[in-house]
Amino acid sequence: MRSRRAPGVQIKTPAQLAFMWQAGQAVAAALSAAADAVAPGVTTAELDAIAAERIAAAGAAPSFLGYHGFPATICTSVNDEIVHGIPSASRVLRDGDVVSIDCGASIAGWHADAALTVPAGDIPAGLATLIGDCERALWQGIAAARAGARLSDISAAVERSARAAGEYGIVEDYVGHGIGSEMHMDPPVPNYGRPGRGPVLAEGMALAIEPLLVLGSPDTRLLDDGWTVVSEDGAWSAHFEHTVAITAQGPWVLTAPAAPAGIRADQVIVRAAVPARQPHPAG
Ligand code: MG
Ligand code: MG
Repeated sequence: MRSRRAPGVQIKTPAQLAFMWQAGQAVAAALSAAADAVAPGVTTAELDAIAAERIAAAGAAPSFLGYHGFPATICTSVNDEIVHGIPSASRVLRDGDVVSIDCGASIAGWHADAALTVPAGDIPAGLATLIGDCERALWQGIAAARAGARLSDISAAVERSARAAGEYGIVEDYVGHGIGSEMHMDPPVPNYGRPGRGPVLAEGMALAIEPLLVLGSPDTRLLDDGWTVVSEDGAWSAHFEHTVAITAQGPWVLTAPAAPAGIRADQVIVRAAVPARQPHPAG
């Protein structure tokens, strides 16, 4: 029987969430290694190779490689590229670039998905602020992902944080998503909107929350490669994402090694163990 409260939203068992956590740690390791390698002179293909090696070393499978024909393990989106950029041996990072790295992996068929944005060399203060504000908006959204809340409470928290931080465009064409036995599942998780709407968040749900902020208009355009999404006006952007499980104890961030400064320990769960009280199978 489906849950009456959230038709269409997959409910994970504790064992399934444990696989997702393992996949999430593989993603975290891959992102950390790739981010550490970002520097002027490095190609985005080199970042892809580093991420692929880390995912394999963790015994996980890359979720992106071959997904609708995508040719790489990570997406690398540089400067005005917002999402879904394709790593390339001819894309050499230059001093002052910013690169968003998006990565997904699965273990035993259970997926995790996360992204971050890092500078190559020295970047202007306004760009550094954008990056920090985007990550903060993500974590405010995560903190709102509590059992009993409504889905759009997450969206509203992300938007509130972003709007309070600066005059950013909040991308609407690409949004977060449910995740579990597939990388992209119901429900869509927008980064904007009024609170108190959508499905009630229940234990065992998992969501990929991923704000995309632009230093300009939020309008997007797809390049001829069929993948790379750029800002219509050429403005530069930032992207942060985590996969979060809804538990009785709070939002369990499956793809993070640690919570950033400014997030209280009682707002989120970032740890290795499955929380003590388990979600019930949907039946
Ligand atoms: Mg992603
Ligand atoms: Mg995602």
